[in-house]
Amino acid sequence: MEKNQAYVEIKGIPFVKINNQQLLHDHLYPGIEAKKKLFVVTANPEIVMAAEEDEDYKQILQKADYVIADGIGVVLGSKLIRQPLPERIAGYDLMYQLLEKANHDGLRCYFLGAKQDVLNKAMANIKIKFPNLVIAGSHHGYFDINDASVAQDVKKTDPDLVFVGLGFPNQEKWIHEHSNQFSQGLFMGVGGSFDGLAGYVKRAPKSWQKLNIEWLYRLIKQPSRWKRMLQLPRFIWHILRRK
Ligand code: UDP
Repeated sequence: MEKNQAYVEIKGIPFVKINNQQLLHDHLYPGIEAKKKLFVVTANPEIVMAAEEDEDYKQILQKADYVIADGIGVVLGSKLIRQPLPERIAGYDLMYQLLEKANHDGLRCYFLGAKQDVLNKAMANIKIKFPNLVIAGSHHGYFDINDASVAQDVKKTDPDLVFVGLGFPNQEKWIHEHSNQFSQGLFMGVGGSFDGLAGYVKRAPKSWQKLNIEWLYRLIKQPSRWKRMLQLPRFIWHILRRK
């Protein structure tokens, strides 16, 4: 975490106390332009609870440059400890905003993760929506994350932005494990966002997003996620217990 950036610590994870526009305009865009190496984590309650049970993962998240509150549960948690975070920043929206920036500036992007057919569809949609962005390369997400050759291939493409959609915790572990090979670039774990870019998974309608019930929409659309979502009440319970 950048030393001069205010943050709120929730169960050992330092969330940046910042809104979406400040994050982009005061931090990420200037960082990209200055060719810094940046590690961005978008963490929801599931990720915080996973870090609670995996000390290595927790330490990786603590070393990230920016941990962003992706999930209304995290914002609620910050209010419960009376250190409110300004807003939720959805990982998908942040990725989309960075793709717009890449399109505007003709930046080189690498896409790592998802199944090959999903990735192909996502790349085809990106070419249409962001014609000025350079697809430096892409690789499906079904490989051994300790295999250094994938990272070497990514490096050869000299990317400005690397989106890693392997799901947590592997995406953050991959970034941490291989980031020493890179001297620049913004690295960000994006979960299932390539499925969204491919059009296979739909975002909740804006009205649901505004009401902060996007999680309910995902649960209705993908009921198999219910077990994962139990982490949300568990997360809130953990915070209340410590108060
Ligand atoms: N995935 C992958 N390699 C794996 C396991 C998963 O590339 O070994 C991809 C999967 O295809 C999906 C994403 O990682 O695109 C995980 O999506 P999920 O919805 O679980 O992530 P979330 O957005 O909830 O973090």
